[in-house]
Amino acid sequence: MTSIAPLVDQFQRRITYLRLSVTDRCDLRCSYCMPERMTFLPRKDVLSLEELHELALGFIARGIRKIRLTGGEPLVRRDMVELVQALGRKIGDGLDELTLTTNGTRLAEFADDLAAAGVRRVNVSLDTLDRAAFQRLARRDSLPQVLEGLQAAREAGLAVKINAVALKGINEHELPEMIAWAHGQGHEITLIEVMPLGEVEEDRFDHYLPLLAVREQLEARWTLRESDHRTGGPARYFDIAETGGRLGLITPLTQNFCEGCNRIRVTATGQLFACLGGSEQVDLRAALRSGEPQAALSRALDAAMRIKPERHHFTIEEPGAAPALSRHMSMTGG
Ligand code: SAM
Ligand code: SF4
Repeated sequence: MTSIAPLVDQFQRRITYLRLSVTDRCDLRCSYCMPERMTFLPRKDVLSLEELHELALGFIARGIRKIRLTGGEPLVRRDMVELVQALGRKIGDGLDELTLTTNGTRLAEFADDLAAAGVRRVNVSLDTLDRAAFQRLARRDSLPQVLEGLQAAREAGLAVKINAVALKGINEHELPEMIAWAHGQGHEITLIEVMPLGEVEEDRFDHYLPLLAVREQLEARWTLRESDHRTGGPARYFDIAETGGRLGLITPLTQNFCEGCNRIRVTATGQLFACLGGSEQVDLRAALRSGEPQAALSRALDAAMRIKPERHHFTIEEPGAAPALSRHMSMTGG
């Protein structure tokens, strides 16, 4: 019989949030995320639209209430809107929220479709407002498209949260300006510490910026009040009195937040990773392609609950160190 029991791991954490990568491909090449000549997953191994849908239904049956579609860049996948439409039908019927993390380059084209399918909020990753710096960082001159995408998202009624990876010597000096800009546009903004996931050309140590230091700088300029706002993600929030907006800080390196983890991640090829910073995995594609997909999927999810580790242990402490994991963030999404 297929279990309908909620997903609870061995540390009694209830897992209610799925981050589902729909592709590992991307139209940008952010230098902290992937190399210019990235090796992508073989297309034949990527789950079909029907398989992604079936997979998501299996998770919802086991108590997943929130799904974030991610990548790679989710909006480069051709049948993405169909998937959003199919999953949008589960909102209010098992699912509380369907969201998306995107680099924004194609939002102008898709914002209306996403809103019509029931998406209410999107996370848009944007690390700099300087066109030349964007081109250097993302290795593509796409800032104008991203800004158009943000405009389209606002017009479609989507709430936007900006995600910016804080990078020493790259956008460090610009962070207050970006926060003021985001709040002026009515967006929340969250800063993220760079994580040592996957080989890239550069040494992440050179650009690693601990957010505690950033917070102190911001506090010298503005009044930050800790907020009890929570979104089910790893960010801790602050209200800034002077800008009237909310700032999130995601500090995987300086302030571990694994204790409250409610998340599980699946790659576009159906590999479940029990932890962003670990290699514990379960093959859901094999379950999906078995004779009894929903029962096999449910058993695989029980196995995932048994191997989800208590916490990740990655650090960026010395120059030249190999990444903690060979897997890039573009496989499991953010
Ligand atoms: N392409 C989409 C985007 O950029 O929003 C979705 C996938 S991307 C992998 C998700 C998030 O992960 C982005 O906000 C990106 O900045 C972040 N990211 C990528 N590599 C990272 C790393 N090594 N450390 C910290 N964040 C990273
Ligand atoms: Fe692409 Fe997102 Fe990685 Fe940038 S961070 S290369 S946009 S997947």
